[in-house]
Amino acid sequence: MNAKHQPAMANESELQRIDRNSVLHPFTPLKAYSRGDAGGPRVVTGGHGIRIRDESGQELIDAFAGLYCVNAGYGREEIADAIYEQARKLSYYHAYAGHTSEPVARLAERILAMAPGRMQRVYFGMSGSDANETLVKIVWYYNNVLGRPEKKKIISRWRGYHGGTVISGSLTGLELYHRAFDLPQGPILHTSAPYYFWNARPGETERDFSARCAQELEAMILEEGPGTVAAFIGEPVLGTGGLIPPPAGYWEAIQAVLRRHDVLLIADEVVCGFGRVGTPFGSHRYGIEPDLITVAKGLTSAYLPLSGALVGPKVWDVLEQGSERYGPFGHGYTYSAHPLAAAAGLANLAIIEREDLVRNAAEAGGYLLEQLHAAFAEHPLVGDVRGVGMLAALEFVADRDERKPFDSRLGVGARVSRQCLEHGLIVRAMPHGDILGFAPPLVMTRADADEIVARTRAAVDEVTEALRREKQWAG
Ligand code: PLP
Repeated sequence: MNAKHQPAMANESELQRIDRNSVLHPFTPLKAYSRGDAGGPRVVTGGHGIRIRDESGQELIDAFAGLYCVNAGYGREEIADAIYEQARKLSYYHAYAGHTSEPVARLAERILAMAPGRMQRVYFGMSGSDANETLVKIVWYYNNVLGRPEKKKIISRWRGYHGGTVISGSLTGLELYHRAFDLPQGPILHTSAPYYFWNARPGETERDFSARCAQELEAMILEEGPGTVAAFIGEPVLGTGGLIPPPAGYWEAIQAVLRRHDVLLIADEVVCGFGRVGTPFGSHRYGIEPDLITVAKGLTSAYLPLSGALVGPKVWDVLEQGSERYGPFGHGYTYSAHPLAAAAGLANLAIIEREDLVRNAAEAGGYLLEQLHAAFAEHPLVGDVRGVGMLAALEFVADRDERKPFDSRLGVGARVSRQCLEHGLIVRAMPHGDILGFAPPLVMTRADADEIVARTRAAVDEVTEALRREKQWAG
């Protein structure tokens, strides 16, 4: 037996025991997990619509759509059939040196038709992280072709989330993702987050705050030298950093600065793309005109891994010139443009269109937000209720009037999300701050929203009581 092998726990299933001893899990406290401190893994066995089932037979509402990716909901046979049929016809062929397959070509055309602006090409990868990695390489290549080898810095934002690989993890502006990994690496800078709730000055309007964010960005570009700054990357709505819709005027002000200094704009639409915010892309909602776009998640509703790096005309023209000079575009993965993932993407987008899920995200998502406001706007534990489309968040505070956060060691957000599980509800404690995140599948109905809010309210009330009882909180 392996020296690190952990003994079986009482009431543990075979799969739970095997997993604890075999799998290295992302974003998991490793030692506690191996020991089974939190009661062992949840073995998920099935799902339908907005619900999943685990090995013990418990059914849960998944109000975070996995990792905000199962947009079309669980158990879609149409997508499963499309994957099966494609696997029987052609399970794989690569995309190097001009090879393709029917679903790849058709999906690229469909994405370009749906995307904002005049996007010209899609580069297919497997994850949001690799698509951002690809776009950074493309930005560097672009400036090399243009004879501007100094123009390479990428500005991201604190609280931005762009992935976990070396460069995408460096773009990410969350300390947890850097700690002890020697990140950030490379020519990457971070500017402040458009987090009006915490960062606005007393009396500052949203528009004034947005203007201040843009001034700060411009000061950074000027200090670094516009000749060294290549691109700015941002999610239309900050996701993992706290589910924070932009304050009024933010994107308008930021884009004006970028245009003044010839800085490319990368819209990371990994979460917002394909309907999540009630428009096809987040850029549509906020008037963003990106040069480059990242997509993943909702593209296949996570039935298979697939991402896209979309290239607009300004950059595409230069890439074409570049390969006249440098030879074939020297970037690719074995699984780039995988036909099975593309078949899943086509079937998924057909569902999104046929069932009008973008509109449902706006309507049912709007209803969810209304009900969250009704249940929590006056709640003593809740300082902010916010959201857009099928994204929403509650922010817990120690003092509503003084706007004081909880001591992070209390882990209030995580505690509420654990309590929600007791009520059969999955919501996500966002990694920085006491923020409870909602991002259900886009098929959520109003009745589902009522159930989500009722279960959340019960859990929040229970934690409120417990904090008072334990004298952790005087609110
Ligand atoms: N970009 C954004 C906005 C994301 O939210 C994520 C993942 O949550 C990523 C990129 C990274 O995607 P992946 O986890 O598929 O690598």
